[in-house]
Amino acid sequence: MSERFRIFRAPAGSILSRTSGFIAAAGFTHSLTPARNCTFGCTYCYVPTMRIQGGLQPDDWRRWGQFTTFKENAPALLSRESRPGQKIYCSPLVDPYQPAEEAERRMPELLDVLVERPPEVFVLQTRGPLVLRDLGRLLALARRTTLRISFSLTTNRDDVRRWYEPHCATFDERLAAIATLRDAGLAVHATLAPLLPCDPEILAEEALRVTVEPVIGDPFHLRSVKRHGATTRPEAEAISRARGFERWHEPEFQRAAVERIARVARAAGREFGVGEEAFAWLARPRSLQWTV
Ligand code: SF4
Repeated sequence: MSERFRIFRAPAGSILSRTSGFIAAAGFTHSLTPARNCTFGCTYCYVPTMRIQGGLQPDDWRRWGQFTTFKENAPALLSRESRPGQKIYCSPLVDPYQPAEEAERRMPELLDVLVERPPEVFVLQTRGPLVLRDLGRLLALARRTTLRISFSLTTNRDDVRRWYEPHCATFDERLAAIATLRDAGLAVHATLAPLLPCDPEILAEEALRVTVEPVIGDPFHLRSVKRHGATTRPEAEAISRARGFERWHEPEFQRAAVERIARVARAAGREFGVGEEAFAWLARPRSLQWTV
């Protein structure tokens, strides 16, 4: 096991949660969260700011990223709770392909259950090239239901990645993973979220190059704009101040960066969107799929 984080296991009462707020508005009926606390430990992660509303315990938000607790009975729970017609987002609270998943191998078991009992839509939200380990199972699931993979691309700059998300894969590694998923025939979206300090045109061009599906974006959440709910961790705001990136937390500057990305997408004849409307693209069943 890595020295950097510890892995715990505990039985859980349920694995699928009814959605609310942003995720429900996008069209998802349930979220699937295989573990509590995420060993990517991103400095900006919104989840620890949700505290008990995010299903966390105090040690989780105080030591975010230093350990994770897997739901040890997750496959049995999923067998019991899965129903046709569910639109499942995995996950708003943890990356299913976090570093600890490499040793734990919880996702293959869950994908096997989903292949047997497919929902209407299943979306994997990840930034982990580890997802490629399960490519065979993902292809099996894609034959049974609408499967989309939303792959986070946050910046094209490796210095920025090291400052804000040092335990995440590099830009090139993520691009390669997305291209492999796409070449295998899976629906994979590049999700530019949260938008870290970057060269917006380069980020956009590369995201468009490796995908055929619409591209989704979302700047840092701001407490000044969003009074309640999840928001950017103070750790990331401190990094932005120390590195001279405060403007990436200003609404006007964020709008301009988003518009620069939108311009690149328009010029390429591709769809790009931000916020709830774009997020809702992920929840669409295959019969309503757009053509690009
Ligand atoms: S991968 Fe996602 S859930 Fe995990 S720490 Fe980073 S932002 Fe949070």
